[in-house]
Amino acid sequence: MNNLRIFAISFIVLLSVAMSNSALAHSVKWCGFFRSEFVDRGNEDVHAAYYNARYARFKLLKKTSSGSYTQLHSGYLGSDGCTPYYPIETNTNYKFKVGSKLKQTGGRAIYVQPDNTHSKSNSWQYVNYYYNTTYFYGAPPTWKQNFFASFRTHQTSAAAVARQLIANYNKLEYPANQKTHVIFNCNFGLGADNTFASPSHDAVCISTNHEYHGLDHSRYKFCIAHEFGHLMSSYNGGPLNTSYGIKWQTNSPDPCNCERHSTYKTGCLQSRGVTGKCQSEAWAWFYGAMMFNYRGSANSHSDCDMTYWRAAYQTDYYGSTTDWPPWDNSSVVDWKCDANPRWMERYCLSGNGYGSSDYSTTIDWTNFFWNVWSNGSQRYTVDQLTDIWDNTPVANNHIGERYSDLVSTVNSMFPNYWKRYQFTHKAVAAGVNH
Ligand SMILES: [Zn+2]
Repeated sequence: MNNLRIFAISFIVLLSVAMSNSALAHSVKWCGFFRSEFVDRGNEDVHAAYYNARYARFKLLKKTSSGSYTQLHSGYLGSDGCTPYYPIETNTNYKFKVGSKLKQTGGRAIYVQPDNTHSKSNSWQYVNYYYNTTYFYGAPPTWKQNFFASFRTHQTSAAAVARQLIANYNKLEYPANQKTHVIFNCNFGLGADNTFASPSHDAVCISTNHEYHGLDHSRYKFCIAHEFGHLMSSYNGGPLNTSYGIKWQTNSPDPCNCERHSTYKTGCLQSRGVTGKCQSEAWAWFYGAMMFNYRGSANSHSDCDMTYWRAAYQTDYYGSTTDWPPWDNSSVVDWKCDANPRWMERYCLSGNGYGSSDYSTTIDWTNFFWNVWSNGSQRYTVDQLTDIWDNTPVANNHIGERYSDLVSTVNSMFPNYWKRYQFTHKAVAAGVNH
């Protein structure tokens, strides 16, 4: 009942203002939204299909009597995804144009490229969304023009993920004066058929072969976020072992290799691999987790819901009568990265393959990063974690940063016993203390 009354009062106020000003030019705010590609499962905290186009580039144009458009204003949308108020005339045709260059203070910007734009040069283009509209006679002066990109493309999807990264630049340590590019079907690095991060190009490359147009697009979202995570490691100094395919376990037992997959068998979420590579992949998944889940308060548990892009064992079910999901490359996996799987300890040490020293799994390290960052009064910031990795020597033979060396760094960096305990306690819980 209260809601009804408030609505009725608001309506009357707006109507009266509109009437008294109907003959005058009005001031209108224009707001943009990105409609993401993703049809989410909705488990993670941040899963809205419409993303406020905050900090996106915009242009406002007016149609002249000759039929052409002249530009009235341009700039970047504010933190609310809207322009300032601009005076605007009735019965006039306007074009509101939102670009995908996402900008944040300190010169941080992410460009989303049109298809097949490969070169990093002055020809960087924006992906533009055009909205033609007529400003109607008599609309109230505070009326906001809300526009939704109705077409769903991989550019809008990438822009939506990029928006998460740039809007949370502080939490995610996105560096100042950094310009990052999202390119589809790259003709450099691993090539058009692959999805990867290319630090030397300041780029995330997305193969459109890896788009998923079915009912669930969550995995695509997390894959883009994952590649951003690798870039952040290269910018900030987090775990970044580029020796992909080095010493992943390729023999039994089953849950610790990737043989079940039809492609990319050299590394997967649950395969036992060399520690450095597992840390690097886990760090990238951790970025995706941070983008789409809330950290919560220090002393309460923070859920972490993600989607992995292909089949994996559900950690609670492996070893029981049901392995879920089945060995099916088309399946996606709901992944609770806050739950301790201790995958290597539980399933990988009994069979042939490598030992525990300097080996781990990506799923275990992802769990570690999430929990050491999200929970506990002595939880770590992303900045502190990257500092720990920066200050730890890289062991040879592709091992990366050894666990024992990381602990030594923590001990020298943090005099507080409980701060140090946070690191080792979470490591033991995740089973990465090897
Ligand atoms: Zn990766």
